[in-house]
Amino acid sequence: MNHLELIQKSKESALSGKTLDRESIIALLEIDPNSEAGEKLGQAAREVASAVCKDRAYLWAAIGLDYSPCPMNCNYCSLGEKWGIVKESTEFSEDDAIAMARKYVAAGVRWIVLRTTQFYSLDRLIGLAEKIKKTVPGEYELGVNVGEFDEQTAQRMMEAELEFVYHTLRLREGIDTSFDPNARLATLSAVKNSPLKLVSLVEPIGVEHTNEEIADSFLTAMEYGAVVTGGMARVPVEGTPLGELPAMSKERFAQIVAITRLAAGASAPDICVHPASELAVEWGANVVVVETGAIPRDTCTSLKEEWNGFDPDTAKQWFHASGYQVFSKEK
Ligand code: SF4
Repeated sequence: MNHLELIQKSKESALSGKTLDRESIIALLEIDPNSEAGEKLGQAAREVASAVCKDRAYLWAAIGLDYSPCPMNCNYCSLGEKWGIVKESTEFSEDDAIAMARKYVAAGVRWIVLRTTQFYSLDRLIGLAEKIKKTVPGEYELGVNVGEFDEQTAQRMMEAELEFVYHTLRLREGIDTSFDPNARLATLSAVKNSPLKLVSLVEPIGVEHTNEEIADSFLTAMEYGAVVTGGMARVPVEGTPLGELPAMSKERFAQIVAITRLAAGASAPDICVHPASELAVEWGANVVVVETGAIPRDTCTSLKEEWNGFDPDTAKQWFHASGYQVFSKEK
């Protein structure tokens, strides 16, 4: 099968709602993103986005609650204690986090996620989530991106009216991180066995990853029932062990995200690209993230403004330019 036939077959598979097989995903990843076939792949993904998500786009806001050294020392993360980048710890107060959530709800954000380092107290976090839900009215969905937890904790999250969890088995888990991959999978199982929705991206993707690794990471997210997937790029952070390795080209990153669109079919109708990329939006991503607070991709905190100046208004402009409409809730 040549590239154009493969793209056509993948598009038809997505339009019929199916998840693509591993072999086809790897073959799509082998296409040069700077070629004519690469362009066709992106266009096919955009057509699938029109059919599957009806050109509805959504904003996701991540609030990094604690800027503090994390003992897990992932090789790409600025918060790793060993890298010595975080000199002084700071944390959002409850009032700051509530104010931030209120601001994002007013800006039309659909998903708000409270993100922490690995060992942030889950009791405190669940308490904060409860307060946000009680004091910030709106149609948004609230979630967490935290360390490992079991089904009992997932139940407590439900009782606090959280709607979703961000979690993933990251690329080279156990190699570029000191985690036991099984511990990450156990948390994914706890989410899968609860009514909480799972949001899970292929991440953090860099030039070091093979097509097979990328395909397997995507298929793991699907296996655990992710309803939102997509790709997150590794941003080289100076001073971390992977800081010297360059970032992917924007074309390669957009291609990988477009392939998650073609491969997810109707299983994960919302496809996220992070950090946001106009090309990836043109090629079928309908979710982007604005971030404040502790940023694992940078050597500073963004307490007042969004990271890299990428705010909800900019995100909306990008979506409109690519023919999407932005909504704050699922239809
Ligand atoms: S990626 Fe998460 S677990 Fe790893 S060092 Fe950073 S904050 Fe800690």
